[in-house]
Order: sequence, then C-alpha cells, then structure tokens
Amino acid sequence: MSYSDKDYCRVCGLLQPEPPWGEEGRLPSFNICDCCGVEFGYGDATTASSVIFREKWIAGGARWHIPSKKPAGWDWNEQLRNIPAEYR
Ligand SMILES: [Zn+2]
Repeated sequence: MSYSDKDYCRVCGLLQPEPPWGEEGRLPSFNICDCCGVEFGYGDATTASSVIFREKWIAGGARWHIPSKKPAGWDWNEQLRNIPAEYR
C-alpha cells in the first residue's frame, strides 16, 4: 500500500486511518487528529488556517491530543516531512 498527500494530516503530517478530506479531497471527515488535535474540515480548511493551527500547536509544545497514541521515539522533525506541500 502506498500513501499520498491526502492520507496525511495537513497540520502535523500524521498518517491518518482514512483520508482526512476523503478520496477526492473535498469531503472532510470531521475526525480529530490524534497528534495535533485539529478537526478535519475546520482548522485545516485552507493553507493559511493550517499554518496558523500548526504554529499554535508548536508554540504550545507540539503535544499529542491523545498522548497514549504517541509512538515511542516520536520525532516531530521526521513527521513534518509528511505535511502536504500545499499546506506548509
Ligand atoms: Zn494533525
């Protein structure tokens, strides 16, 4: 299985169990990202809003919304590479 931009959180780059904006990128799931806590469809609706949400999240210490889901040895610098280029 290979992943594409649509499989990752636009804010933090975490791989999602289902595409946050659907296969066509137009229907947000309204799920909450386990990592940055954004609700798909709101905070990540545009590039500008994604950037703002990301900056606030980083300023707050880049803490996981669901700490128990945080993998051992998690590396933010590694994950940020998955953020779709359009939303950086
Ligand atoms: Zn996220």
